Amino acid sequence: MVGGAALLKDLRVDPRVTVARLAAWVGAQPGGTVVFGTAYLGFDGNRAHTSRGPIDAQRVIVCVGHDLDHLYPALAEEHEVQRCALQMARTADPGAVVTPAVLTATSLLRYPAFAETTAAAALRTRMEEDRPDLLDIDANVMFTQRPDGTLLIGDSHHTGRTVDPFLDEAVTETLRAETARVLGVDGLRIIERWQGVYASSPLRPYLVADPEERLSVRVVTSGVGMTIAHGLARRHFPS
Ligand SMILES: Cc1cc2nc3c(=O)[nH]c(=O)nc-3n(C[C@H](O)[C@H](O)[C@H](O)COP(=O)(O)OP(=O)(O)OC[C@H]3O[C@@H](n4cnc5c(N)ncnc54)[C@H](O)[C@@H]3O)c2cc1C
Repeated sequence: MVGGAALLKDLRVDPRVTVARLAAWVGAQPGGTVVFGTAYLGFDGNRAHTSRGPIDAQRVIVCVGHDLDHLYPALAEEHEVQRCALQMARTADPGAVVTPAVLTATSLLRYPAFAETTAAAALRTRMEEDRPDLLDIDANVMFTQRPDGTLLIGDSHHTGRTVDPFLDEAVTETLRAETARVLGVDGLRIIERWQGVYASSPLRPYLVADPEERLSVRVVTSGVGMTIAHGLARRHFPS
């Protein structure tokens, strides 16, 4: 390791607990209601139609992620929205305390703030020579430790209109071995594997469309939705 960056405003969010807490928080606000198990079907200008019947609506904001192509296929096609599938894993406690969230060289090739620097070209050349296995799976090797000591490690990327559910064990092994190498530990043991999916577009990192009066569509079309969602909401819907 030859350098680092102090990202002092960085915040770690654990979806395993945060999503439920956010929903509970919204439900606890005056006038706030969260309705689960209910599909949005469309807007007629006055009412949002759902699988549980219509809801009077002054304004509708549709945020359905990669399922946009089910609801508004022409919009999804216009913005070239696809599905990006990622392989993730959780390991047993490596026996080391890892306080920060750790990004590695592959991360610097993915996020525009790093990837648009002039140094990124030299880094890519070096990675092509040294670690084609990581580039082959479009890896972003990063990890973070949960309070119970287990490590969340990710991730690979595979983009398509639909994605297979099958997890390639060779991909998991590449991610596991690289994490162990960075940490300098032997025998990192996988205890969970899963696939995540997000919306992806080669055109832009997020989709902004207002197809009708009082109907807005917002979809983050890159892997930064947890980071930018609140800023995006504040910028577009300030009140
Ligand atoms: C493995 C993985 C790791 C990630 N890591 C990071 C990270 O480190 N940092 C970061 O910033 N981002 C990360 N992301 C990206 C981030 O999770 C996404 O960008 C974000 O979840 C997008 O939020 P969203 O609300 O637009 O869509 P989603 O989270 O996809 O939510 C859309 C919701 O709409 C629901 N829905 C679909 N159709 C309908 C319908 N007709 N009616 C009602 N509901 C419907 C879906 O069921 C879903 O619950 C990661 C994503 C994955 C998969």
